[in-house]
Amino acid sequence: MESPHRHTALIISPHADDAAAFMGGTAARFAAEGWKVVLVRVTDDRKDSVGLTVEETIAANTRELHKAAALLGIAEVVELGFETDQLADVRETALRERFVYLFRKYRPYAVFSFDPFGLYEGNMDHIATAQAVEEAFWVACFDLHHPEHLAEGLAPFSVCERWYFGRHLPGANHAVDVTDYLDQSAAALCAHRTMMRNVIQQYRLQAQTWGKTIPLLEHAFHDDPEPLFREYLHGRGEAVAHQFGLPEGRLAEVFRLVRFGDLEPLFQATGEPIPGAPEPPRREGIDA
Ligand SMILES: [Zn+2]
Repeated sequence: MESPHRHTALIISPHADDAAAFMGGTAARFAAEGWKVVLVRVTDDRKDSVGLTVEETIAANTRELHKAAALLGIAEVVELGFETDQLADVRETALRERFVYLFRKYRPYAVFSFDPFGLYEGNMDHIATAQAVEEAFWVACFDLHHPEHLAEGLAPFSVCERWYFGRHLPGANHAVDVTDYLDQSAAALCAHRTMMRNVIQQYRLQAQTWGKTIPLLEHAFHDDPEPLFREYLHGRGEAVAHQFGLPEGRLAEVFRLVRFGDLEPLFQATGEPIPGAPEPPRREGIDA
């Protein structure tokens, strides 16, 4: 049966856990509000584990990704299958072509991605993905780029909204209230058990070099990681909510949301509805 989805959101996640870690609450909220949310995993996460073989790691991380996606209400997971932690060596235009293809195929109203202009990003898979997505936005519009897609029946297409997330976002302009979705988002992050154990292990190794042991990390590593990650998501959510002036007790996730740029006021003032097109979602801070 055809779903009643009004709009599609495409999340481009270099690794399985990025979506849950950076925008889990927002993904859950969009899905709950009737969006079709599609998650694209760019790499295979073959190295992201502690004490497992590559084959076991790929299997565990894929299984856990599907569990996390189900918890967030994600409708579909698309796998691009690039080798993890090697995107720096993949041609930008090859990666870009995959994103152009997906934009033309899924025709998303909104695309979520790492910010290509974000700061303090130390992971080349994140950077390479962000840069290729950024170029794919305009390349997807050109009818002379990748005519092989058009021969398949696809058409040139432009995404309406670009939602950027990251470690530090200069120009962050939009917060999504995710207070009601913290449980879902924490559960999804913890579903990535294999990858989260590796995150914790990196801190354990660092603390060891420091000359200390951190009981919180030991508990998270050996027993239950949920209290640690819940605490992390809660603290981050509170800080964003405070920054954007949300009422006390609310939690939010932050984005740099880009639409028409300098042309936004002109388009707002003169835009006329297309008959039969769904009503555009209102965006605080952008809509007049
Ligand atoms: Zn990542």
